[in-house]
Amino acid sequence: MDLADGNPLAESLRTGRFCALIEYDTPGQEQPFESAVALGTGIAAAIADHPLVAGMTVTDRLHAEECHDPIDVAARLMAASHKPSVLHVAGKGSSPERVRDLAAKAASEGVRSVLAVTGNRAESHRSPAGKGKRAPAYEKGYLDSVDIIALLKHAGQPLFKGAGINPFKYDPVDLYLQYFKMLRKLNSGAEFIVTHFGWDMKKRQELQWFLRMRGCEVPVIARLALLSAENIARIHEDPWPGVRIARPFAAQLQRESSVNAAQCLSAQLRRIALQAAGCKLLGYSGVQLVGMPDAKTCEMVLTKIDDALSTYTAYPDWLAAWHEHHHGIDFAPVPDAYYVFTGLLESEQPMYDPENCPLTHQVFPLPARLDVLRSKLIRSLGACGPTQRVADALFCRGCRQHCEDLRYCFFLCPADCPKVLVYGPCGGSGPDGVCEFGHAPCFFRRVLALASHKHALDTLEEGIARV
Ligand code: SF4
Repeated sequence: MDLADGNPLAESLRTGRFCALIEYDTPGQEQPFESAVALGTGIAAAIADHPLVAGMTVTDRLHAEECHDPIDVAARLMAASHKPSVLHVAGKGSSPERVRDLAAKAASEGVRSVLAVTGNRAESHRSPAGKGKRAPAYEKGYLDSVDIIALLKHAGQPLFKGAGINPFKYDPVDLYLQYFKMLRKLNSGAEFIVTHFGWDMKKRQELQWFLRMRGCEVPVIARLALLSAENIARIHEDPWPGVRIARPFAAQLQRESSVNAAQCLSAQLRRIALQAAGCKLLGYSGVQLVGMPDAKTCEMVLTKIDDALSTYTAYPDWLAAWHEHHHGIDFAPVPDAYYVFTGLLESEQPMYDPENCPLTHQVFPLPARLDVLRSKLIRSLGACGPTQRVADALFCRGCRQHCEDLRYCFFLCPADCPKVLVYGPCGGSGPDGVCEFGHAPCFFRRVLALASHKHALDTLEEGIARV
């Protein structure tokens, strides 16, 4: 397929045509390429003539770093579907050189859209030895998605750049950290947003209201997951970092899967179709469908979504159907869950309106005294000046980050983040704010407390430049 003359996905998003993308995981190298991509090419052929589908997305190193080249996979899917591919570029075990190489190869293969993700925890990155202990450094490192966006911006290729967000956070600190980092990604060059998957539609509406409140007219794609009976059987193990399922919803899923496979599939198809219709009514530009097991199921999902999109064209009708399918259950996985606005998911108010969408009161915690002291001392010693060695001896815990970049985390040593990030958190923390590695609260909770204490929250949104 020759997509050299333009970017149909970017054009579709910019013109406001609601679309679907099918997510496909780049397979591991244990299988030969041809047989490994057979499932993907089967799905690609099945969606070739579907008008709702704008293309396929190809993940990078999602399940293992030893996977096939995602650009070879993307090229094969484009050839089979005659539609564009969106390439995920993961920072896990990655480097600026790899990002530049991927950008150059993507451009030469006709891939025009890229989604930057820091990546989930590497398989070989061990957990800390106990609670409160730090995770050993991962020798290959994690390149932050903010860095990837900035690198792609300066790579000299005509790439449409996307960034991720996990809006499914229920503590004000974790949630605002996600929103600030999303703004930092936009300020660094991201042109569209893709969300984590989740089922709480209040959180989906909250993200749209937040973007409107901040005057961001950026296209947002909602990832929606089709759960299999096997997924549902494992839900109590919390199999997805950054996704926690509320108990009433888990109970409903288990009831749906307890009778037979057909009933389970039917309930999941209805749910994903309702979610897609809701996303359109809430202002999303499209949906990215995760967990398609085969071409036939993918076609069933798309048929159901088409039906739901034509049935639910009014927000109150959709809302009534959503509540009815879920018997009005609460999707928040913790008591006293935090939402930025009041009035979310009420029938009168689909879109943000400053008069009718009041903010919820929230207070950020105070920073620890030691963190205030550290930050002050390093600033006054000059983290990057001649006294840097003194500052390092006092406070550096071996993060190996460039001293100039430490200002993004208020001079706290990012070695306390197992991924050694400085620009903001990954999406992997739990609903209680505990790090994806499970040893301690997310490092960036301390960063936000310092920023709030210094009345400098706006600095958490600043973009970065990389050449
Ligand atoms: S400390 Fe926060 S940003 Fe770092 S790995 Fe843990 S959850 Fe992710």
